[in-house]
Amino acid sequence: MLHTEQTTQLPAAELLLAGKTDYWPIIKERVQHKIPAQVFAIFFAELEARWENNTLFIICPSAEVKKHLQGQYRRLIAEEIKALGLGVEIQLLDNAHVTRETPPVTQQKTVARAETAFPNKIDLNPNYTFDRFIKGPSNEHAYAAALGAAEKPNNYHNPLYIYGGVGLGKTHLMMAIGNYVATNYPWLKVKYCPSEIFQSDLIEAMKDKNLSYFRTRYRSVDVFLLDDVQFISKNADFTQEEIFHTFNYFYQNKKQIVISADRPPQALPQLHDRLQSRFQQGLIVDVKAPNFETRMAILKTKAQESGIQVGADVIKYLATRFTSQVRPMEAALSILQFTSQHEKRPIDLQMAKMSLKALPQENGIHQVTIEDILRVVSRTLHVDESLIVGSNRTEQVALARHVCMYLAKQLIQGATLSYIASAFGKRDHTTVLHADQKVRELVDTDMALQMQIEEMLEELKF
Ligand code: ADP
Ligand code: MG
Repeated sequence: MLHTEQTTQLPAAELLLAGKTDYWPIIKERVQHKIPAQVFAIFFAELEARWENNTLFIICPSAEVKKHLQGQYRRLIAEEIKALGLGVEIQLLDNAHVTRETPPVTQQKTVARAETAFPNKIDLNPNYTFDRFIKGPSNEHAYAAALGAAEKPNNYHNPLYIYGGVGLGKTHLMMAIGNYVATNYPWLKVKYCPSEIFQSDLIEAMKDKNLSYFRTRYRSVDVFLLDDVQFISKNADFTQEEIFHTFNYFYQNKKQIVISADRPPQALPQLHDRLQSRFQQGLIVDVKAPNFETRMAILKTKAQESGIQVGADVIKYLATRFTSQVRPMEAALSILQFTSQHEKRPIDLQMAKMSLKALPQENGIHQVTIEDILRVVSRTLHVDESLIVGSNRTEQVALARHVCMYLAKQLIQGATLSYIASAFGKRDHTTVLHADQKVRELVDTDMALQMQIEEMLEELKF
């Protein structure tokens, strides 16, 4: 049995060196970093795997989980396998079909080293192309720069340095450059390389006293894509040294270098000064979190690409719910697809809310809207929404309106009093203050109302 707890804390490179070639825990751990904890818990925590020759058999607890893993998660696992330089096939099995005939759990430790650490196995994800990248104000600059480097790989700003937070499309853009060059300039050699792999490759080469081979291989490349340089460790002097020399070689020979990191070069204190200044020499662009429209577009596209049927209301809800990263949006769609298959009914807003309740909120904040508040208050206090936003002044309606304003003031991030007032057809922002005060006084004496408000807060905050 393999459990994640057994996962040793050693980074992949050191595991390779230690000769511990049981990669499944490493692969799982890498996947874990890329998807929300709940998704991991649902789909991955119970997965077991075994190696048999060149195949990784992944054993799913049920046929449904298996079915669900077939799509993007299978690709994600495949990506991680590639990133570790392993050239193996994946096969998904479900528990029901695991019989005696299937390979015994030997946890084979025979993945040949020669196959593991060599970078030529690392491929580009064919889905990461320019036309599948959704542009918006947060990333169009980076997109244009990446396209520029792809179109003129020998004659562009060198290096091109792309930085930004996790899951905002850096790897996508880098691979898009790689895919573009591979398609349009097939005579040019493209090398995509996560920094960790560069480092582990280098360790391997030094250990085998094979540094010259390492250099020949890397320097034969025309377009070098070095991803996530924030993972180059502080103490890896030799790695930094080697990158520096590789960089100089590429630079002098007019070969395109593209670097990504989670922050700008000057904010990477572990990098030696001279490497930092090399990285600052070309063009530096950033990717920021997508705005609402871009998030909607990304969700729509991803749903279409995966054949997931979702209505505009659900897309809108998800775009409101996830505000900073793209990966959790993909995960959310995937959970919905799973739920819909599992419960044999189409995805709707209700299902979206239920399924995603379990997901951790980004930054712990969920963006509540006036519509949410209206709906919940209307239902709890039994007052029609149209009455609440109208001018009716009967006691029950006025109370509902006041409660709405009170909740809006507490829950809607960044909303001004005037904004809240206008949402309820009021001109004067002091109306909101008045309502807020009124509700506070009421809940002091009215236990029933206090409980209702607590329930509503709970529901709105999830
Ligand atoms: P990073 O390398 O910055 O952490 P990735 O490039 O791995 O992020 O992106 C995470 C996921 O989000 C990928 O599946 C990628 O395709 C998707 N993604 C991110 N930004 C966009 C975008 N603008 N358009 C389409 N997909 C995107
Ligand atoms: Mg990345």
